[in-house]
This record gives sequence, C-alpha cells and structure tokens, in this order.
Amino acid sequence: MTMKNLKGLRGFLIDAPEPGKLRGIRDGAVLIEDGVIAAAGPYDEVRRTPDAELVRWQHSSEAVIIPGLIDIHAHLPQYPVVARVEKALLPWLRRHVFPVEKQFNAATARTFAPFFFEALARNGTTCAMLYATIHEDSCDAAFAAAERSGMRIILGKVMMDSGSYGGLPAEKILPRSLEQSERLCRKWHGRDNGRLEYAFSPRFAVTCTEELMREAGSLARKFDAYIQTHLSENHNEIEMVRSLFPRHPSYTAVYEACGLLGDRTVLGHCIHLGDEEIQLLAESRSAVAHCPTSNLFLNSGIMPLDRLLDAGLRVGLASDVAGGPELDMWRVMRCAIESQKARSFYQTGVRVPAEAEIFHLATLGGARALGKESLLGTLDVGKEADMVVLDLARVLPYGERGNVHSDLSAEEVITLLIYRGGPQAVIETFVRGTSIHRAPPPLLL
Ligand SMILES: [Zn+2]
Repeated sequence: MTMKNLKGLRGFLIDAPEPGKLRGIRDGAVLIEDGVIAAAGPYDEVRRTPDAELVRWQHSSEAVIIPGLIDIHAHLPQYPVVARVEKALLPWLRRHVFPVEKQFNAATARTFAPFFFEALARNGTTCAMLYATIHEDSCDAAFAAAERSGMRIILGKVMMDSGSYGGLPAEKILPRSLEQSERLCRKWHGRDNGRLEYAFSPRFAVTCTEELMREAGSLARKFDAYIQTHLSENHNEIEMVRSLFPRHPSYTAVYEACGLLGDRTVLGHCIHLGDEEIQLLAESRSAVAHCPTSNLFLNSGIMPLDRLLDAGLRVGLASDVAGGPELDMWRVMRCAIESQKARSFYQTGVRVPAEAEIFHLATLGGARALGKESLLGTLDVGKEADMVVLDLARVLPYGERGNVHSDLSAEEVITLLIYRGGPQAVIETFVRGTSIHRAPPPLLL
C-alpha cells in the first residue's frame, strides 16, 4: 500500500463562491491530499472519512480558514519605495520608481525577492501577479526566489522602448526586450506544474511603441502566457497616450489595435474609461486589476467598480505596491469599500459593495481574473489547497481575554477581518497544502 500525503486542518471554514454571499462551516475541516482539497465540511463528518483517521489534525475550531488571498497587480522591485508621497503618477514614476527599478540588479533581486515573497505569505496572499523591472537577470533571479518560496506567482520583465531608464538607444531596445522576454517565458512559464507563470509586461502605452506592444501580444499568444499592463490610471497619462497615438480613438483602442486585449490580459487601474472602452474590454474578455489603495495614494481617482462589474468584466483586487503603500489585502478590501462609499457621497446611483462581495473579489474574483477559477478561490473539493488560517482573537478588541467569537456569523468574521485584519491575524499560509508561512505563537503578556 502506498502512503498517501494527507493533511487535515480544522477551523471555521469561510469562502465566497458567489458575489455577496458567504459560505460558512463552523467547526469545519479540510482534508488535503497531495496538495488538493479531498474533503471539506463539518469536522465531525470529515474526520470519519476512512483516510482522515490517519491524519494528525492541525489548528482548532477556534481558527478561521479561508481561501488564499489573490493580489493580481504589484511591482516587486518597488517595495522599498512604498509611501513616497507625490502629487501624481508621472512625477512619482520619475522621482521614485524609475531610480529604484534601475538599481534592481541580479544581486539585489537575490537578496530582496525572498523577503518580498515572505511578506506576501505573511499577509495571507498565496497568489500574486507581479512586474519585475526591464532587466532580464533580476527577473530571472526573482523567478528563482519565487520557485523556492512555494508561492504561486505570475511574473514578467517590464518592457518599454521609449522613455526607458535602461540607457540603450531606442532602436536597440526593441529586439533585446523581445528576445529577453521570450527567453524568460521559455524558462519559467508553467514551471512546477503551473505554479509559476510568465506575463508579457509592456509597462503602458506611454513608454511603448506600437511595434513593441504588437510583438508582446503575439509572443503571449504563442506561449499561451499572460499579458499585463496599465490602463487609464491618471488624466495626464491619458492625455499623453492621446498625443502619442492620435490615430486611435481611445487609450483602450490602442491596446486593442496592438492585440494586447484578451482573456489572458490583466489591466491595472481602469479608472477613467469611456463606455466604448468598457465595451472593448468586455468583448475581448480582458480582466481588470482594481487597485483602490494606489488609486487614492497617487490621487488617480476612484474606479467606478459597479460600472465595470455591471459590464460583466472580471475584476480582481490588487495592492499595486508601491503605488499602494502595503501588501495587506485586507486594507485593499477596506479601501475598495470605502472609496465606493466616498463616490456615493457625490454621485447618485452608486452601488457600494458589501463586505462579502469584496471578499469574493479578493478570492474567487481574483482567480477568475486569472482564469484559475477551477483551481483556486474557494474551499471546494478538487481545488488546489491554497488557504490561510487566521486567529480572530488577534483582531478582537481585547484579544484572547475578550469575548469568545464562537457566536459570530461568517459575515461578521469577514467584516472584522476587513476592518481590523492584517498580517497579525495570519497563523499559517498554505499553497498546494504546503505550509509556506507559520507565525510564531503570540506573546503572553
Ligand atoms: Zn502598477
């Protein structure tokens, strides 16, 4: 008889299989076999299944277990320059981002990328879609760190052939950028059974020629890889795109003409889109990375979330570090709600999302945006066991000494986490059933 690789986790299971609707199983359990959820339900039932008898159970009915959080847009090399205040996107890029990206060489990546992946896991994020810099060697080193970290990562080398910080003449950049991106994609896309994947990453239309964007799009299709870029974040940026690409009716139309839209494309921000642009995104089945903390931090604006969702777009949430000041997806969720509330104060008819709807976007919504809804995003049997175990006492006003939370509903638990959650609440983070982060026990004071 072969030994099965089994693991059992016990806790209050909470996930959001539908927008705005939570599913909660108090004193529940998840049985994980070879990294996949083999059973999920009430602890008393799951522990009686034949295989579960052999399992040493981890955690307790006091814990909360949710699907891993998914961050679909952030910039790994920018993490050191979070919280650098600037009036708007373009001066912020010039003054803070390009200098730190320029210095992101292979040695820096080898030192800092492991810390970055640790920070994601500590925050309960199990899957992230990331930008590196224009450099091939540091992107390669970041991939190697992602492989070792156990995280589920989509990453790509930034492509830009105009206004770049690389020091090469423009005509030399294009072939090199394509060649390097293709080499990285061949090496890393699909690694470890798809845990690591490649995203062709033209930064945005302001720093890319049409030729580069077209070629990036066709490479992505050739390798069935992702495409990520930025769209309609800031009014000055939109004006620049209008003057650089006067033949095209809109910013989105530029990407459409270059073949960058599609069901493997994730577009960051999408704040100031016209109706025709939203329609182009919907028709092409492109996905949107909603970055509310970044949108406020850089004074970019408030994305009309209800409008994009009503158009049928797939929307996931994103920290957009370093435009967003932290990797903590609970803060991103809170900001996603509060920014729509703010919008509702000056616009009529705004639908403010409920906590359960925003939690859905941070889990299954993100999985859908990445085309991974059959693998990730809920605690259903058959999905890969990417999940987070949380200690609610760490977010309650009086901690362990306060009221026991056994009578809280799933909605109340998720609301508490959205308004008071953070890395301090995370006890353990799993990807494919493997523990990638375990918090030290709390200090007894
Ligand atoms: Zn970004």
